[in-house]
Amino acid sequence: MLEVSDLTAGYGDIIGVSGLSLRVDPGEVVALLGANGAGKTTSLSAIFGLVKPRQGRITVDGTVTTGWSPRRMGRAGCALVPEGRGLFPSMTVEEHLRLGAFLAPRGAWSSALEEIFHYFPRLGERRRQVAGTLSGGEQQMLTLGRALMSRPRLLMVDELSLGLAPIVIGQLYGELTRLVRERGSSLLVVEQHAPMALRHADRVYVLEAGVLTLEGTAEELRSGEALHRAYLGLGDAGRPAAEAGRGPAVPAAVGGRGREASRVGGPELSRRRRVYS
Ligand code: ATP
Repeated sequence: MLEVSDLTAGYGDIIGVSGLSLRVDPGEVVALLGANGAGKTTSLSAIFGLVKPRQGRITVDGTVTTGWSPRRMGRAGCALVPEGRGLFPSMTVEEHLRLGAFLAPRGAWSSALEEIFHYFPRLGERRRQVAGTLSGGEQQMLTLGRALMSRPRLLMVDELSLGLAPIVIGQLYGELTRLVRERGSSLLVVEQHAPMALRHADRVYVLEAGVLTLEGTAEELRSGEALHRAYLGLGDAGRPAAEAGRGPAVPAAVGGRGREASRVGGPELSRRRRVYS
């Protein structure tokens, strides 16, 4: 569905992500993890056309989409739920959902609405309630529902869990991943909340300071210590977190090419360590 190779993107002199390669297959749930400032949002923004890639190639269903506008990405079957909810406080749940269906044929609106209410029954119960009075979890549910109304084949979500209680995050992930899998579409989710993403994703990529350092199935990463170290920004023994994962974006000269992601437990783990030393 989505294939990203060697993607580099940033802002002025700052490189937010460097040399990123990843793929999301049809029906798959993939998580992109990393600490604050690791380059997760920049990656999604570059894939969706909000930030212009400086290097690399993005394809959706085999069509090269590098540098396409968000509108064109939408027409190609992609949707992005950005960080922050972007709801209109005085508009109702149903009005928001209808807004999300603007790309869908008019006749398909009510079936799309019923489908969203099936997977997110809470939205159905509150269809006439204004967004400003919904709880945080319900608001996040509404932003997801709005994006899903256009039946995207690839949904990208930035920080699903932001500001929500673990029990609410678990419910949202459960409902969202069930819908995505039953539709046979794909989900790429950016997360700081690693345990929740590991519970619900099929595969996981980990970014550290703008560079991909770890990838594997969620099952592989759940059981290993490598994720813990990478995610906490402890890239290598003795390397302080402030340098490894939580600091500013990588300068162009440091990131990217030559630093390859490790498969968990594989021989490449030591290669990554050599790069850091
Ligand atoms: P968080 O989880 O905190 O949102 P992130 O992993 O999504 O972090 P990004 O937002 O992609 O990280 O940021 C990567 C780097 O790019 C950071 O160092 C950040 O300061 C920088 N950056 C992000 N947006 C901009 C911008 N608009 N202008 C300049 N630098 C930016």
